[in-house]
Amino acid sequence: SALVVAVDGPSGSGKSSVSREAARRLGLAYLDTGAMYRAATWWCLHTGVPLDDQAAVARCVRELPLDQGVDPDAPHVVVAGTDIADAIRETAISAAVSAVATNLAVRDELRRRQRAAIATQSVATSFSHGRGIVAEGRDITTVVAPDADVRILLTASQEARLARRARDVHGSDDEAAVAATHDQVLRRDADDSTVAQFHVAADGVVTLDSSDLDFEETVEAVLAIVAQ
Ligand code: C5P
Repeated sequence: SALVVAVDGPSGSGKSSVSREAARRLGLAYLDTGAMYRAATWWCLHTGVPLDDQAAVARCVRELPLDQGVDPDAPHVVVAGTDIADAIRETAISAAVSAVATNLAVRDELRRRQRAAIATQSVATSFSHGRGIVAEGRDITTVVAPDADVRILLTASQEARLARRARDVHGSDDEAAVAATHDQVLRRDADDSTVAQFHVAADGVVTLDSSDLDFEETVEAVLAIVAQ
């Protein structure tokens, strides 16, 4: 039967790129649940829904016309015909996403779609290998797929996470680049700490600390856990 691998971790832990690469090498589908919260945030802003109106945000997300690819080699995030894969990485979305993700009705809706995607290993009409899926986020090992075959919490020291984010956003991890991303990363950590516990592993979840591992070593460590 299909293999389900759940990976959680804070921002800057490298979980998205590591999970995608692990999925590719395992020949599995890949689900980026953070992209779903980002797409929901983009849709609310795009349609002019005030993010502090909880009921309106919930209504908006229930009708989110999302088509998200689960092929690790061809990721796409399309909302109402517009490919927003790049737009959802912008600072405005990163700054607003926690406000949407803390809305419990939003979480109910997106978790329902995530469970459906894991069950079918596909979203909408997209790709499916039928062999399984790597699903990645903040609450996948605990709430969305607590019965996954493999559950991993990918952690990293705050220093390592700040350096990674600085390299991603500014192409450098020198002092100025780290300073520029510092506040953003820490604010999102604080905002997200209310939606999910992702710094301490739940029972039965394997913790993988990537602070002293490079990308390739982290991917290999994930594959070793899956092979156990
Ligand atoms: O992983 P990424 O940084 O793209 O996630 C964006 C945001 O989506 C997180 O900061 C968090 O607020 C929210 N999120 C969540 N639950 C998930 C995945 C992401 O609340 N499973």
